[in-house]
Amino acid sequence: MGVRKKAAATAGAASRKGHKVFLSIAKKKLRVGFFSFTGCEGCVVMFTEILNTKYKEWFEKVEFGYACVLQSKNDMRGLDVAFIEGAIGSDVEARMLKEVRANCKKLVVIGSCAINGRPSDQRNYFDAGQMSEIKFVLDRFHLYDKVIPANAVVKVDAEVPGCPIIEEKFIEMMESCIKEFSEVKKA
Ligand code: SF4
Repeated sequence: MGVRKKAAATAGAASRKGHKVFLSIAKKKLRVGFFSFTGCEGCVVMFTEILNTKYKEWFEKVEFGYACVLQSKNDMRGLDVAFIEGAIGSDVEARMLKEVRANCKKLVVIGSCAINGRPSDQRNYFDAGQMSEIKFVLDRFHLYDKVIPANAVVKVDAEVPGCPIIEEKFIEMMESCIKEFSEVKKA
């Protein structure tokens, strides 16, 4: 049930019991985070391109809790939505992704690396000779032999396709999240 319907149902039940209840719908900013894992960061670059046209409008409605591409002070606590770019290539990344999941209500993967690992999973298809050539790099940085998508580590709620992300699809996703999270009822 949506927030407005819930508010109306609560008010109706209360008034049937003889209590006067005043409910109003207040707006709060959508609190989002952007997190980059194994990839070229082209999806986050595309997000900054989208801000060229959407920033003024979204500034009124969106708070950037965590976005290293935009600011130096970042805090992932209490996120409504976390946007995840890139595939997962190490335990360090897997742990970070789990921490993000624990701090957000909705986790959205953006771009094909995060959705299915490609194209950042090229080493998954290397033969034994190629793997032996890159072994020192994997060992040096404690990387997995095979790169995995985000949904192999945490529950994913939604995705924005593309490589990089398709602009219109990202805008649709951000605007549906604004609608989903920005209305709170006040008694
Ligand atoms: S999906 Fe494409 S653009 Fe996005 S991070 Fe991966 S390689 Fe880069």
